[in-house]
Amino acid sequence: MIELYDVTRTHLAGETEVRALRGITTTIESGSFNFVVGPSGSGKSTLLTLVGGLEEPTSGRVVVEGRDLAALSGRERDRFRREDVGFVFQSFNLLRNLDAVSNVLVPFMPRGLDAGLRKRAVELLEQVGLGHRLDHRPNQLSGGEQQRVAIARALLKEPKLVLADEPTGELDSETGREVFGYLRNVHRQSRPTVIVVTHDPAHLEVGDRRLRIKDGQLDGDEVI
Ligand code: ADP
Ligand code: MG
Repeated sequence: MIELYDVTRTHLAGETEVRALRGITTTIESGSFNFVVGPSGSGKSTLLTLVGGLEEPTSGRVVVEGRDLAALSGRERDRFRREDVGFVFQSFNLLRNLDAVSNVLVPFMPRGLDAGLRKRAVELLEQVGLGHRLDHRPNQLSGGEQQRVAIARALLKEPKLVLADEPTGELDSETGREVFGYLRNVHRQSRPTVIVVTHDPAHLEVGDRRLRIKDGQLDGDEVI
C-alpha cells in the first residue's frame, strides 16, 4: 500500500514559490492499476517524483509498503529507487547503440549480468510483443515499440511499484492504446502497483482507479 498524508510540495523558482501540491491525502492499494489525470501544471509529475523517492515533500508523509520515505537514509533511499521502483517516462531514453535485449539489461550492467537475467529480459520483451525484435536497435523500432522496450526495462528488476509519467505522450492514440494494453499485460503477470499519469481519456477504461488532481489538490477519486 502507498499512503500519502497531507503531502505538500513547494518549488522555488527564483524568488517565487510555486505550490505544486497543496495537501494530498490518499491510499493506493498494492497491486492496483491507477491513473492520475489533471490539467497541465496541476502537480501530477511532482506527485510521482515524491512517491518514487526522487524528491522529498515539503511537508506531509509518503509511506510505501510500510516504509516512511523520509525516514530512510540516503543510501536506503537510493536502494528503494533502484530496486523497488520502475520508472517509465514520456521519452523512452534508450541507448541507441544497444539492441532491445541489451537496453532492457542496462540497469543491471553495473552489477553484472547472468544467463538468468538475459532470459528474463527476453521473456519481458515477449510479454510486450517484441519477441521478434530482440536484436533491433532503437532506430530500427517504432515509437510504440521503443516505449515497450522501456516498459520491459522498468520491469526487469521486478519492482513493487511502477511509475509512468505520460508514457504515451509522444505516441499517436492508436499506438498509445497498444502500449497501454502491453502495460496491462505485464501488470497482470507480476502485479506491481502501477501509477500512470496520462492525458488520453481513451486509456482510462483499463485501470482500477482514477485520481484527478487540480491545482495541487485531489479533485476526484473514482473506482473504474
Ligand atoms: P504536471 O505534471 O501536472 O503538468 P508538475 O508537477 O510538473 O505538473 O508541476 C506542478 C507545478 O509546479 C507547475 O506550476 C510547475 O511549473 C511547477 N514546477 C514543477 N517542477 C518545478 C521546479 N523544479 N521548479 C519550479 N517549479 C516547478
Ligand atoms: Mg507532468
